Amino acid sequence: MIVAIDGPAGAGKSTIASKVAEKTGFFYLNTGNFYRALSYIIIQEKIDISDKDAVIKAAEKHKIGIINKKVHLDGKDVENFLRSDAVDAIVAQVSAITEVRHIINEQIQKAAKNNDIIAEGRDMTTVVFPNAEVKIYLDASIEKRAKRRLDQGTSVKSLEEIEENIKTRDYIDTNKEYGNLKISEDAIYLNSSDLTIDEVCEKVLSEICKKGQLKS
Ligand code: C5P
Repeated sequence: MIVAIDGPAGAGKSTIASKVAEKTGFFYLNTGNFYRALSYIIIQEKIDISDKDAVIKAAEKHKIGIINKKVHLDGKDVENFLRSDAVDAIVAQVSAITEVRHIINEQIQKAAKNNDIIAEGRDMTTVVFPNAEVKIYLDASIEKRAKRRLDQGTSVKSLEEIEENIKTRDYIDTNKEYGNLKISEDAIYLNSSDLTIDEVCEKVLSEICKKGQLKS
């Protein structure tokens, strides 16, 4: 079974998807981490992100996948390097390149093979898993989203600066020429602003139950 969750930065997708994965035993796929891993290596290799061909070449060259639940880049665990301000600053631009999306989508689909999965990102319900049995669009107010990012403790920026970065990413993410963030017609819309993590999890789990995959 495939459970697909989309939504903007800071809506709580990772928290909810990993909790639901724990409860169901489904394989958790954080697809933002694939774009983050690519952005990380682009920074390491000092590639100019305005040089589209160089970014595409980097996407072709480096293998991104999941080993033991952690994101690996060319076989090395890079999970701890993916939430920096430097990665946040370029990841939306890197992922806006259509050719890059095709390459990363192949790697995502490889990682998802033969599994009951819960996948979260921006285009899971629309492009990558259009036949997902459960589709959720998870949203929250910009204030809540910025505060959550601040509370993660991986940024040295102020709340206002984080809010600006999220707004910029939202703009780029919703305006991409391919795989842009939007609410799929057949997705359930959930606003997590005034809900607890457990309440959102319950809603997602009840949708999975409705599909007959779990006992309620
Ligand atoms: O989910 P997260 O905020 O970690 O994703 C980082 C960035 O990766 C997003 O701002 C978005 O630009 C990009 N992304 C994407 N498609 C996905 C997942 C993430 O374009 N499926």
